Amino acid sequence: MGAELLSLTAAQAAARVAGGELSAGELFAFYRERAAADRAQGAGGLNCFTWVAGEDGAGGADGPLAGVPLAVKDLFCTRGVPSQSGSKILEGYLPPYTATAVERLQNAGAALLAKTNQDEFAMGSSNENSAYGPVRNPWDRTRVPGGSSGGSAAAVAAGLAPWALGTDTGGSIRQPAALCGIVGMKPTYGSVSRYGMIAFASSLDQAGPLTRDVRDAALLLREMAGQDPCDATSLQLPEPVALPSAERLDGVRIGVPGELSGEGIEAGVLKSFRAALETAVSLGAEISEVALPHAPHALAAYYVLAPAEASSNLARFDGVRYGMRAPDARDLLDMYTRTRHDGFGPEVKRRIMLGTYSLSSGYYDAYYGRAQRVRTKIAEDFARAFAGIDLIATPTAPTVAFALGEKTGDPLAMYLNDYCTVPMSLAGIPAISIPCGLADGLPVGLQLAGPAFSENALFDASYALEQALGFDGSVARG
Ligand code: GLN
Repeated sequence: MGAELLSLTAAQAAARVAGGELSAGELFAFYRERAAADRAQGAGGLNCFTWVAGEDGAGGADGPLAGVPLAVKDLFCTRGVPSQSGSKILEGYLPPYTATAVERLQNAGAALLAKTNQDEFAMGSSNENSAYGPVRNPWDRTRVPGGSSGGSAAAVAAGLAPWALGTDTGGSIRQPAALCGIVGMKPTYGSVSRYGMIAFASSLDQAGPLTRDVRDAALLLREMAGQDPCDATSLQLPEPVALPSAERLDGVRIGVPGELSGEGIEAGVLKSFRAALETAVSLGAEISEVALPHAPHALAAYYVLAPAEASSNLARFDGVRYGMRAPDARDLLDMYTRTRHDGFGPEVKRRIMLGTYSLSSGYYDAYYGRAQRVRTKIAEDFARAFAGIDLIATPTAPTVAFALGEKTGDPLAMYLNDYCTVPMSLAGIPAISIPCGLADGLPVGLQLAGPAFSENALFDASYALEQALGFDGSVARG
């Protein structure tokens, strides 16, 4: 029974519950036990979770999601449930409300299974910046799962949750999905409400699904997307998300930018990427080269803009309103200073300092203003490219999963993880990562990106490729 339940995708499990062949309670109990066992092992396990629901957490079998359990990145506010964005500064914070994305999924029938471990305030690419310890990669426990949605990605890959929610600011859904051999989708900016997501960089933050396959990703996005009066930047997708069924790629024009698929990408990753392109051709796709001349500057612009927004967003954590407060302060300023000193980890402090510096009066134009202009150039590059092609393909991450501790001493090496994912974030366009093969026994991700609102085209193309590539992720489920 266990092995059979574990072999089901979330959509298949939902269909069985809806068909009366499986009880929602049984499904919930199965995953709850697996998640609770990992949680009980603490640092000795994969360390995917910061909180796991009790046995009474099962929901009904109603709605399109039919009671299928859902793991949610810690930074989504969930009413009465710890929501700390991987930080010590939010210890003890129990939100009085639930994030819109989560609430919509619950209304569609999902049952809240667990909150997942993440890099503190979503700043990181390896999950080593969590105040609750690193997450391990189920393909190789000495390696990182990627970040910042590392707990969500590892949990889905290891079969500790049928599917999960993550967020992506510069790559935090796509890169961990790639490193863990699962599917991760960052939708068009605005298509999922940010209400109730603990903010990192508001002009970039976007929620999205981490799933076993493409169809699960479409199903989850279909139920959570949509305009929300609580988020003024949210919008309605022009057409509803459809479940993909394409088998061919006839007539689909895929552009490959040399800037993001050559220098700096590991040989094994490139090999797997090129093989995936050949598969696309065999399905009828037309592959051509495309230029994204400003893409190499995306990372530099991102590491000015994201910290600038973060330094402003994180000003609210002052010991007065949420979570922890340093004891025995001499006066108010001392309380602020000590709370932020004790509550924030080193990467978060680094970003606050970078952001405060680039926004300071003497440097604003030189750094923040210039980075904004680069952002515009990058968006224009994509617009120009999409005049002649339908989709863009790149490797998702320059390397496969690396060893725990390998890059913690070198922030710049760590930042390079997002080389291929950050341009799409700056342009606000949708992108998906699907597993396309193995290099040295570890998963490689293929990224497909499209113009704003091309979610359905992306799902269709990645579904067709997924069927043809036949990637087997069952190894990681043990
Ligand atoms: N790794 C990138 C960073 O550290 C992106 C993080 C994210 O997308 N949340 O900022």
